[in-house]
Amino acid sequence: MTTTLEPTTQVVANPGHGESFTEHMISMEWNEQDGWSTPELTPLQNLSIHPGMIGLHYGQVAFEGLKAHRRADGSMGVWRSADHALRFQRSCARLAMPELPADVFVSVIDQLINADQGSLSDDPSHSIYIRPMMFGTDTSLMLRPSRTYRFLLMAFVAGGFFGENTESVSVFVSHDYVRAFPGGTGNVKIAGNYAPSFLAQREAEAAGCQQVVWLDAVERRYLEEMGGMNMFLVRGQGADAQVITPQLTGTLLPGVTRNTILTLAERLGHRVGEERITLEQWRRECADGTISEVFACGTAAVVTPVGKVRDRDGDWTIGTGTPGPVTRALRTALTDLHHGLAADPAGWLH
Ligand code: PMP
Repeated sequence: MTTTLEPTTQVVANPGHGESFTEHMISMEWNEQDGWSTPELTPLQNLSIHPGMIGLHYGQVAFEGLKAHRRADGSMGVWRSADHALRFQRSCARLAMPELPADVFVSVIDQLINADQGSLSDDPSHSIYIRPMMFGTDTSLMLRPSRTYRFLLMAFVAGGFFGENTESVSVFVSHDYVRAFPGGTGNVKIAGNYAPSFLAQREAEAAGCQQVVWLDAVERRYLEEMGGMNMFLVRGQGADAQVITPQLTGTLLPGVTRNTILTLAERLGHRVGEERITLEQWRRECADGTISEVFACGTAAVVTPVGKVRDRDGDWTIGTGTPGPVTRALRTALTDLHHGLAADPAGWLH
């Protein structure tokens, strides 16, 4: 590892989401004979690639997304990097790519955060979004897995995903497209899952919504997840409220935030459940008041309340259309953990 580089001291004031890259990157290469090379920390720089690179043509590209936050004492905390390491291994294995050992994944992230934490302001709504990725680098247009790979780690300073506000968003149920199907790749995080979702996202935006709700591909009636986040429904109210999320059927991404919320909801005394929920049931339970709140969650979205649903068979409002108490309590419980303000019995903050 090159450690002679100067750490970042330039704070990013207005980060937006996805374009305020930090100053450094880490790179490693893999081949069958030597395995992984020593990680190299360099200034963030352009790549030089052959136009016939396998990853570029056939989508042999897997990635992750996780965050580091500044803790109340000024130090940095990386959120659940060991869990993201395991999902990255599953994604790479699904694309016939080599696995990166979890301890290497965790340690290169620490190195990058050490180098670039100076980019992050003290604003608690800002964080460093970390993007590990791997792709096949063989120069070949044969349809086969690459025999050489590159791992890259980069990061950007993140403000809020839906702007800075935590008000409710509107979602659009996609009937024309599906995201994932049995035997496919919906349960891993690969580049190929995302470009096909852009048309549906554009449709959602044209309908005045921020996100797509995906239905299952077989019966086209079960709720799965949203564009880049998992979804939760709150049944009932107050302390008795039940916190429900669509079951992992093999076509949903098992979100690290989803898993965290299930645990936090239990800690707050709620009953939690993983269910198969149909669109019709969702509509009906909102109409009769059974479902009082809906929210989306993910690394980028944190916990984002959903206020309105647009569907071809009619739109509806959830509860009062404004963020509900269970959503707000879960959001606070999560962000307190991110910032080291709450007990962390599971050791999620690293
Ligand atoms: N679903 C999809 C399709 C996603 O891309 C993401 C973001 N990784 C999520 C759910 C949420 O996952 P996580 O909580 O691990 O960020």
